[in-house]
Amino acid sequence: MNYPNLLSPLDLGFTTLRNRVVMGSMHTGLEDRARHIDRLAEYFAERAHGGVGLIITGGYAPNRTGWLLPFASELTSSTQARRHRRVTGAVHDAGGKIALQVLHAGRYAYHPLSVSASSIKAPINPFRPRRLSSAGVRSTIDDFARCTLLAREAGYDGVEIMGSEGYLLNQFLAERTNKRNDDWGGTAEKRRRFPVEIVRRARAAAGPDFIICYRMSMADYVEGGQSWDEIIALATEVEAAGATMINSGFGWHEARVPTIVTSVPGSAFVDISHAVAGHVNIPVVASNRINMPQAAEQILADTGVQLVSMARPLLADPEWVLKAQTARADEINTCIACNQACLDHAFVKKTVSCLLNPRAGHETELVLAPTRHTRSIAVVGAGPAGLATAVNAAARGHQVTLFEANDVIGGQFDMARRIPGKEEFNETIRYFTTMLATNGVEVRLNTRVSAAALADYDHVVLATGVAPRIPAIAGIDHPMVLTYAEAITGAKPIGASVAVIGAGGIGFDVSEFLVTDNSPTLNLKEWKAEWGVADPWDAPGALTTPIPAAPAREVYLLQRTDGAQGRKLGKTSGWVHRASLKAKGVQQLSGVNYERIADDGLHISFGPKRERPRLLEVDNVVVCAGQEPVRELEEDLRRIGIDPHIIGGAAFAAELDAKRAIKQGTELAARL
Ligand code: FAD
Ligand code: NAP
Ligand code: SF4
Repeated sequence: MNYPNLLSPLDLGFTTLRNRVVMGSMHTGLEDRARHIDRLAEYFAERAHGGVGLIITGGYAPNRTGWLLPFASELTSSTQARRHRRVTGAVHDAGGKIALQVLHAGRYAYHPLSVSASSIKAPINPFRPRRLSSAGVRSTIDDFARCTLLAREAGYDGVEIMGSEGYLLNQFLAERTNKRNDDWGGTAEKRRRFPVEIVRRARAAAGPDFIICYRMSMADYVEGGQSWDEIIALATEVEAAGATMINSGFGWHEARVPTIVTSVPGSAFVDISHAVAGHVNIPVVASNRINMPQAAEQILADTGVQLVSMARPLLADPEWVLKAQTARADEINTCIACNQACLDHAFVKKTVSCLLNPRAGHETELVLAPTRHTRSIAVVGAGPAGLATAVNAAARGHQVTLFEANDVIGGQFDMARRIPGKEEFNETIRYFTTMLATNGVEVRLNTRVSAAALADYDHVVLATGVAPRIPAIAGIDHPMVLTYAEAITGAKPIGASVAVIGAGGIGFDVSEFLVTDNSPTLNLKEWKAEWGVADPWDAPGALTTPIPAAPAREVYLLQRTDGAQGRKLGKTSGWVHRASLKAKGVQQLSGVNYERIADDGLHISFGPKRERPRLLEVDNVVVCAGQEPVRELEEDLRRIGIDPHIIGGAAFAAELDAKRAIKQGTELAARL
């Protein structure tokens, strides 16, 4: 069998999981409104059909103070529980198992009813929480127990008690947020009482044959976080209180240590889960930055953990397990940890989806059914937009030919994958390469196709993307000037000091590329040093002094607009890029006028009055000033009577990203 550990069942005594894959909790936004229950059921059913062992839902509050947002998801009544039967029934019909996550947001609740162990405001939330009284603590425990019972009534196979990421239970556990001196604080033992009592009461409410998973913060990554002794004591007490398994959590939401973005090395936290597993007799679940079967198999083979949790990887590919089971791992659409359509959507109250799989969360709306009328389709351009069209149209049964001027597929994404910390984008290129072959797309590389050669196709799709914008700056044709494409592909050598024009996503990426030595992927040791990450057994809160690597070059990052740079970067990943460039000494200058480029460097001034003239004595200038659409074929096509479908950057270059390109390509493929 492929992946014998990963695919073997796990006997929990009263029930058996069909394999070791847990779909970790992700709040999709569909949980919050009763009218979305059918969409939610379909979303989970698709993952259950795909073979996942145990699904954990997004978080449901046990009472209204625990809501994440005003009127967000809760499970507090039998009426609500009855509605959930749509979800549990759909998952069970597909042969899966599902547990409901019970989450009390505590001081992360984004509303004025929020409560916590003490009245200490979170740095990431404007609302100051009310300190729970002793009676309030007891009634919250009652609410967790009631929610567990309701989950059972709703047909769930279990619950996950959310005790990590800095939510309420975590707030009781850490000295940082628990300044109480009553039965629920003052000593580590008393701080533990609240979560342990919740598990004990949840077990009593649900009975013995119900999964109770406790999600435990194994490294808080904040000052005043738990010590290792406290973490281990909690694990053993949670087990004694009746937990069936312990899931791993790392870092509070307010932590300044990245734990899930692309630049975090794979399997970075497995050692910690393994260490906890050595202290308990119930299964421990590993999590974070695990996205392919080989890595998951290795973890199960080499460590004491018994299950592997993946959340985003199952958004990206609902058939992840099925593909592992049928020796088709190279067909897995691997989550690249970009957060762009999942967590970044959650923060702006948009339904969670996936950059790579726009069907996620929209299973009932974006349907790729087999076609009844096979058509011949020419797709021009093998960037993300063209690739998504070609692969999905061919999967529906169309005859697709993909023309690409370059000698490789990927378009701009082929550059993105070369940025340090974005190496995982390679997996997307691997996925599309495999799927083009599997679905029988005829791929013609090195082919800049003419309009006449496209005359006989039923449909022509222009996905010719974008080209770097060349701004009108005096001296822009000086030999020291490179486009971002020339810099990233190594087309021209780059000196020791560089000015980057344009501080958008690409300007940030290029700066990261320039300050990073040529060594490719950051290893775990270097990553820990850069972010000041200690092993939790060495320091409470698992923090130490950061020692970032010395920058490989002196870099100036410039923009014309006033104010802080990188404001348009992703909500959940932008801070990582900003912190990384700061740590590597990139000099960020805003409100800049580009006066001229000459042999002595880049001449700039500041503000509308062109004040403070300054010469940046740099060896090179790299232009990252946005992009223009590439659409030269359109006119020729229209002249011979062809009305092309135009998608991705070819249609509209401003604010373009791979999320829009892939979504447009997939939606077009569904319509053709
Ligand atoms: P393109 O990617 O430009 O692809 C167009 C393709 O068409 C090219 O391969 C081109 O060679 C081909 N072509 C053009 N003309 C012809 C012709 N006449 N005949 C045949 N072929 C032709 N986006 C994100 O969402 N997240 C990120 O983290 C991210 N990081 C990035 C980092 C960098 C360094 C760069 C450069 C881009 C990044 N992007 C990112 C942007 C993303 O890659 C683009 O938005 C996306 O690739 C646009 O897709 P597209 O298919 O519309 O066009
Ligand atoms: P962008 O985000 O639009 O940034 C372009 C930059 O160039 C801006 O900083 C702009 O700032 C400057 N600029 C624009 N016109 C200029 C001109 N004529 N002269 C000088 N400067 C000019 O575009 P991008 O950086 O090229 O990125 C393209 C897309 O790729 C983005 O929309 C982004 O979504 C995506 N991307 C995403 C990521 C990610 O991590 N999610 C990473 C890379 C790229 P001023 O006008 O202030 O000078
Ligand atoms: Fe993964 Fe990005 Fe998709 Fe989120 S949007 S599931 S991080 S690939």
